[in-house]
Amino acid sequence: MENLIKKTARDLAKSKKVIALTGAGVSVESGIPPFRGKGGIWEKIDPMEFAHIDSFMRDPAKVWDILIREMKDVVEKARPNDAHIGLARLEELGILSAIITQNVDGLHQLAGNTDVIEFHGTFALQRCLKCAKKIETAKVSLDEIPPKCECGGILRPDCVFFGEMIPPQHLFRSSKISRECEIMLVVGTSAVVYPASNIPGDAKKSGAKIIEINPENTPLTGSISDYIIKGNAGKVIKEIVSEVELLL
Ligand code: NAD
Ligand code: ZN
Repeated sequence: MENLIKKTARDLAKSKKVIALTGAGVSVESGIPPFRGKGGIWEKIDPMEFAHIDSFMRDPAKVWDILIREMKDVVEKARPNDAHIGLARLEELGILSAIITQNVDGLHQLAGNTDVIEFHGTFALQRCLKCAKKIETAKVSLDEIPPKCECGGILRPDCVFFGEMIPPQHLFRSSKISRECEIMLVVGTSAVVYPASNIPGDAKKSGAKIIEINPENTPLTGSISDYIIKGNAGKVIKEIVSEVELLL
């Protein structure tokens, strides 16, 4: 692992065309549970059922009670960890140009990254189903479930539920920067949620080196990715950044 960290640091230090694709694993050390993997929300509930748009439309109160209420609490308390901070430092050093994240927690922006494509939208805002007005999640009271807009419409998170389309501008830009990058860091994603799961393959086809950081293998490991650094994102990224700084 030590060798892979040094190897990654050498590659990064030479490149100005690095992007990262991140998933729920990058925020685990901030206290936000992932869907899959150890300690994942899936051990308790089936997100395909609760995080599906059809479930929400059928029974918004149930989805607010079981999934969104807890998420609001967890996300509001979360702070960037060493993985977010390290990726922000790589941007500051002129190495990392953008992040495509599947996360909705806003922690990359809070850590200081300025070009973050929120592929699955954001949990920081709620949107009214009736008038489309957006309201900060932090300002939404949970006295009434489901919470409502001033107009009486039900509020929903401004994220992409399973069964919904990815905003086309995000698809377009993610695909463009994936085809242009030299190195893609794929951090803390199980790489099974389509279409985000296709992004590393697109980058690879255009000649990029794909480096995974994840404590567990994924469907990319041994096929799409050049190698995997097995470990928690916070520790691994912190070590990589320290090595990069020695090389600059
Ligand atoms: P996932 O839940 O499917 O997979 C999590 C991955 O992170 C696994 O591969 C696991 O091995 C890895 N992991 C666990 N701990 C880690 C650590 N400390 N460091 C590095 N990796 C670690 O996540 P996904 O691929 O992002 O897909 C789930 C979907 O759910 C996403 O689309 C996302 O929108 C949503 N989601 C978001 C959040 C968030 O915003 N923080 C949290 C849960 C789910
Ligand atoms: Zn409204």
